Amino acid sequence: MEQSGIERYVPIVGEKAIVEIFQLARPLYGLRVLEVSSTFHGGGVAGMLHSLIPLLNDVGINADWSLLYAEPALFRVTKKIHNALQGEPVDLSEREFKVYLDVNELFARYSPISSHDLLVVHDPQPLPLIRFRPREVPWIWRCHIDLSTPHPPVWDRLKPYILRYDAVVISSETFAKPDLPSETHIIPPALDPLSELNRELSPDTIAQKLREYEIPGDKPLLVQVSRFDKWKDPLGVLQVYALVRKEVECSLVLVGNMATDDPEGPEIFLRVQERAKSLPDVHLITTSDGLLVNALQRAAAVVLQLSLREGFGLTISEALWKGTPVVATRVGGIPLQVIPEQTGLLVDPQDYPAAAAAVIRLLRDHDLRTRLGIQGREHVRQNFLITRLLRDRLRLFRAVLGKG
Ligand code: UDP
Repeated sequence: MEQSGIERYVPIVGEKAIVEIFQLARPLYGLRVLEVSSTFHGGGVAGMLHSLIPLLNDVGINADWSLLYAEPALFRVTKKIHNALQGEPVDLSEREFKVYLDVNELFARYSPISSHDLLVVHDPQPLPLIRFRPREVPWIWRCHIDLSTPHPPVWDRLKPYILRYDAVVISSETFAKPDLPSETHIIPPALDPLSELNRELSPDTIAQKLREYEIPGDKPLLVQVSRFDKWKDPLGVLQVYALVRKEVECSLVLVGNMATDDPEGPEIFLRVQERAKSLPDVHLITTSDGLLVNALQRAAAVVLQLSLREGFGLTISEALWKGTPVVATRVGGIPLQVIPEQTGLLVDPQDYPAAAAAVIRLLRDHDLRTRLGIQGREHVRQNFLITRLLRDRLRLFRAVLGKG
């Protein structure tokens, strides 16, 4: 029989890591876990759950995934909440907050959440669900957002809901909040090295994918893979590209699908499209194509991630795993992945001349690119693969259930 379970990861992470996972899972056999998020597609959370849930099941956890009903009105409000948590001074009206609570109340009443032993709720969209259920089993809030400087009025509005949770999980120590006395766990995200997004590709497959999207292979490629979101600063990437182009011939690909829970994407895309008209060799792609992202991250001379705020930025680990060097901003969870001069180069957000200088340096120094790529891949192998996430999840479940 073809292998389909966790043993497929043995050649990548070794047998010891897999045995540890089995041992951690033993006291949890049959545990009914429900993950609740707001989209099946687009963004890092959905991608991660697609890999994590089958693996949890494979080691004996009865894990399932449920989606908060997708309503455009809700997502307009929750994107505002998301923006406020990342520091934007957003005004949230009582009426908007009511939409947020009403959708959650309805979902709490009609969803399958009562038949589970443990719930993991992702991000602010389904956060208030806990308020509308009787307290019977442990609930965990998994926040993937950069919480370093939340807008105080919105943070205060959400806190009573967060405090109800038995544990909170964040991606980086820098997001820990002194005014949040809840049990807090730090578990960074991780990538699945066997998924379509990350599996090995032959040079032929890479070349074919680039041809399919009419991306020429004759110049060094700069790539940023990100939803069209202001926090990912796609307009800043264009500025950096314009500066780099004055020194080195290259082309730029911005690839970003539209997540269903991000209503701002189309508007930001139009602004990027308008600005890109004045620049040569810029390719904007909105198709959702994991194999293309994989091929681009492999074909790129440099991958950029110039976020203004970033919960983690899984795209960075994805590039490093493929041996591609990264220029990224010193924000949120990014410095966990990019260790300056070892696994990539860090710059301050919106310091476009510094970002351009870092890119030019890499484009001109093949040995540096190779060294950072090799070290980056090893850093990811040790810290940011899905097996490590699975291990940490099992430890978390045991801690929350008092089986630690
Ligand atoms: N992604 C993708 N296609 C796109 C844009 C993004 O497959 O057009 C994937 C990307 O490879 C990564 C995830 O979506 O796996 C984005 O995660 P990240 O943590 O970088 O950002 P988020 O969108 O969660 O803020």
